[in-house]
Amino acid sequence: MSLLIVGTVAFDAIETPFGKTDKIVGGAASYISLAASYFYKDIELVSVVGDDFPQTFLNTLKSTGVKLNGLQIKKGEKSFFWSGKYHNDLNTRDTLDTQLNVLENFDPIVPEDAKQPDFLMLGNLVPAVQQKVITQLTKRPKLIVLDTMNFWMDIAMDELKKTIAMIDVLTINDSEARQLSGEYSLVKAAQKILAMGPTTLVIKKGEHGALLFNKDEVFFAPALPLEEVFDPTGAGDSFAGGFIGYLAKTKDISFENMKRAIIFGSAMASFTVEKFGTERLIGLSAKDIENRVQEFVDLVQFDIS
Ligand code: AMP
Repeated sequence: MSLLIVGTVAFDAIETPFGKTDKIVGGAASYISLAASYFYKDIELVSVVGDDFPQTFLNTLKSTGVKLNGLQIKKGEKSFFWSGKYHNDLNTRDTLDTQLNVLENFDPIVPEDAKQPDFLMLGNLVPAVQQKVITQLTKRPKLIVLDTMNFWMDIAMDELKKTIAMIDVLTINDSEARQLSGEYSLVKAAQKILAMGPTTLVIKKGEHGALLFNKDEVFFAPALPLEEVFDPTGAGDSFAGGFIGYLAKTKDISFENMKRAIIFGSAMASFTVEKFGTERLIGLSAKDIENRVQEFVDLVQFDIS
């Protein structure tokens, strides 16, 4: 049993209505790994950074049990850099800058002993690189989950569609679902996207929760109404980390269990947005997570007699 996580480990510069950061640690795979590590310990990370990346954060990842044998550190090169600015509603953002740097020529190498994972989480990354990871595996994982974003739809749609055809679960936000399908209705969008290959689709709607679709069923998980939302960066990735971490822990990929998994994913996302960057995802206790999940349960539980 193991979980292989692929995605960016990066620097971000973020502007929200509440403040601004210079370069801080971010990246899809950073959030995914931290969130998943609370549920599951046998995690291997495949990614790339430059030699400008802080060893302290890599040590933090290691201390949570994430193995870094598949993390390449490129001498004399710069790490991936993304900068974004959130609108007042915190639900929408503009990308101000994307500097691919080490990602430009990234050739992922899956370590020999990680080539048969039961679970594969393909975090936001160049679609061709995501594909290259799948083709290096010597056994088809039990479940492949892929997250992506509009950036790749804009510049690599064909490659992205080829990758989507190879996976089981796709997680994207509502505007990306509309862009990918060309449909405004999310129900129609889901039908079109499921026809592209995945058996399951998660549509994330920021503070409005997330929808889980398969061919015949749909389920909705709310987002917790939080008093303080400080920085939404990484919420989607933390969601994905909690989702796949919970599935790996429970070894159950039924639709019923995925319903529980999106609640755990939503709980991890709700922590992330409370502080800038990855800060809030470090050092949580099992009790913190249990209490947070209970808040979700209380939020939606009601009796109709
Ligand atoms: P999220 O807020 O969950 O959508 O993810 C934000 C994270 O995605 C940031 O930490 C960025 O470093 C990373 N990111 C932003 N743009 C890209 C991109 N084009 N490819 C891969 N990762 C990205």
